[in-house]
Amino acid sequence: MNTIPLSRENMEALLRHLVLKQFNVKQISVRVTGLVGDNKILTGVKVRTVAEEDTEISADLVVDCTGVSQGGYHWLQDLYGSGNVEAKSLAAL
Ligand SMILES: Cc1cc2nc3c(=O)[nH]c(=O)nc-3n(C[C@H](O)[C@H](O)[C@H](O)COP(=O)(O)OP(=O)(O)OC[C@H]3O[C@@H](n4cnc5c(N)ncnc54)[C@H](O)[C@@H]3O)c2cc1C
Repeated sequence: MNTIPLSRENMEALLRHLVLKQFNVKQISVRVTGLVGDNKILTGVKVRTVAEEDTEISADLVVDCTGVSQGGYHWLQDLYGSGNVEAKSLAAL
């Protein structure tokens, strides 16, 4: 068996490099501040640029990757009201 030793930091850098090589993947530097949608469907995210400008990005699919801060959960609460959003762990599904 062949083994390639790789630190976590280098593994992340390698994965990022490989993903960004895909022609249909683009990286942008913004901070997500909320979600856009109506009572049926999410249609995008609100973002703040590095120049502190607020704008929106439309999306067919929104994936929350904010880690332990659970940004998506809080933004769903902002959009639909805290009593209308329930969080479940993957293990509970
Ligand atoms: C000290 C320490 C040691 C650990 N050691 C290990 C270990 O040895 N093995 C292991 O398996 N796990 C370990 N973990 C846990 C591991 O780090 C996490 O499980 C993992 O990082 C979660 O990945 P993630 O992508 O879900 O979230 P994160 O790595 O937290 O990434 C979330 C990303 O979202 C970004 N983000 C947050 N809010 C916004 C926003 N509003 N707009 C745009 N971007 C945003 C953040 O900048 C960040 O880049 C450790 C954690 C800590 C703190």
